[in-house]
Amino acid sequence: MKIVAVLPPVVELPEPSPGYLFNIKKAYNLHEYFASKGHEFITLSDANDSLDPHLADMSVFICSPFYPAYLTKEKIYSAPKLKLALTAGVGSDHFDLEACAERNITVAEVTGSNVVSVAEHAVMQILILLRNFVGGHQQAVDGEWSLPRVGAYAHDLEGKTVGIFGFGRIGQRVAARLRPFGVKLVYNDPYRREDLEPQLDVEYVSFKELVETSDVITIHAPLTEQTDTLFNREVLNRTKQGAYIVNTARGKIMETNALVDILNSGHLAGYAGDVWYPQPASENHPWRTMPKQAMTIHYSGMTLEAQHRIEIGTKAILNNFFEGKTQKPEDLIVDGGEIVSPSYKIK
Ligand code: NAD
Repeated sequence: MKIVAVLPPVVELPEPSPGYLFNIKKAYNLHEYFASKGHEFITLSDANDSLDPHLADMSVFICSPFYPAYLTKEKIYSAPKLKLALTAGVGSDHFDLEACAERNITVAEVTGSNVVSVAEHAVMQILILLRNFVGGHQQAVDGEWSLPRVGAYAHDLEGKTVGIFGFGRIGQRVAARLRPFGVKLVYNDPYRREDLEPQLDVEYVSFKELVETSDVITIHAPLTEQTDTLFNREVLNRTKQGAYIVNTARGKIMETNALVDILNSGHLAGYAGDVWYPQPASENHPWRTMPKQAMTIHYSGMTLEAQHRIEIGTKAILNNFFEGKTQKPEDLIVDGGEIVSPSYKIK
């Protein structure tokens, strides 16, 4: 069988990192894995033109959200042998899921593999924004010592209302990690989790209430038809004056230019996250230069520990596929000609 994966190119690192698995050479140790099984394994670092010649005969396609290949309906219909589209990570919006369902292609991801990593990153970025860390750090390296220029915009997290949008694996872990800070936690999700409310001390609220009452909004819903550009100009204008938004879910959940405008206007106090649209973000993506931001590139879910878990989970999905075994239900996004993941099938 022909298996194709899209991964970043190899980059010389200042210090060796033997645990690093995320490039075309290491490829989650899949070169050795496929060689031992007698399959042809091709790794590409260009998700566009270089993929096209392989569409005709590839049976399995692997990519990850950090460095996605956008498998459009057109590409999916140009890949007649494709049986499995595998996300080496969490979040499969880079595949046209409806088209995969129509073509009976299984879409699987390594559910849970990096949820701790992302939850930690979200908490970090919330603190970085509230404490005005970027301003303080900049002075430290620039040889400055101007306390008002930092302190006038720094806040405690304690006592603030944090709205968690999307209360799944990551959203729940963010709640657990924020609880000791003495915040008020509210959440919104199509599935109310009354069973978890007392334990995590969270309150269920409508989307409207979450948007209008949160001091910090942290986004953890998948990118779907419902969440695509949900945080548009109108919604952003309804946030509290001086609120912060952290988005480690997907860049396309935000309206790109409306976010820039609202940060420029001073209505939002700050924005952070690691996800952009499209990815990799162009050098002149407007979020790179917008004010009051503490963006990183998309790496929250690819710590060395997460990469290790992704390797194990990817191989487990591949083993099941090659041996004709049932996949773990939570790893399946599309199966048997339909979208089966509860997080993606909300209408
Ligand atoms: P999950 O499936 O466990 O949880 C997602 C939650 O979002 C579910 O509870 C679902 O009901 C909810 N949801 C779906 N549609 C919604 C809507 N319209 N409004 C509100 N909530 C909605 O997934 P997870 O593991 O918590 O991951 C969440 C998302 O985070 C992923 O889909 C992915 O896009 C993103 N993610 C990012 C990184 C990263 O590196 N930045 C890593 C992993 C996941």
